[in-house]
Amino acid sequence: MMIFILLRKEDLLCWHLLFCQAKLKRILLAVGFYIRKASNLKKMAHICLTKYGGDIPNTIEELLSLPGVGPKIAHLVMIIGWNNVQGICVDTHVHRICNRLGWVSRSGTTQRTSIPEETRKALQQWLPREEWVAINPLLVGFGRTICTALRPRCGECGVSKFCPSAFKETSSSSYFRSNKS
Ligand code: SF4
Repeated sequence: MMIFILLRKEDLLCWHLLFCQAKLKRILLAVGFYIRKASNLKKMAHICLTKYGGDIPNTIEELLSLPGVGPKIAHLVMIIGWNNVQGICVDTHVHRICNRLGWVSRSGTTQRTSIPEETRKALQQWLPREEWVAINPLLVGFGRTICTALRPRCGECGVSKFCPSAFKETSSSSYFRSNKS
């Protein structure tokens, strides 16, 4: 998401990405793995220009075929770019909080899901479709302020009495630090 904001700020279009690698790397310096991300964006721009007339693909399958695009971004692009909700955008906050609240589990078990994609599929099985867009910003905000990855603020949390993980996640808990999306 950070990358989209940076590119939009610079008003970079598809063909710019092909010819402005130096500028692209400079813009992306603020994000991790910027060399790989700049390279992926260049390849992606070439594919979008040659295969999609300079636009972005409008299906999950085609988006996933672009270099560096995973399910989280593919679903986000479908929602924001095409106003077409195909699935929930599950990032590290949604993954972590859904597991802490006991909203998702591995298929046929009570164990936590191990990756965001597993969380997405489990969450979609019961969450009403009309909530699929709202759940991401809701939990991202909650995850940044209250249910943080390290030391969640359970004492300040309005849903602690419904949460099976309340006051159990300690600073020594490494599960979610090692399972980021
Ligand atoms: S009680 Fe703690 S672990 Fe549970 S949702 Fe609230 S902040 Fe997160």
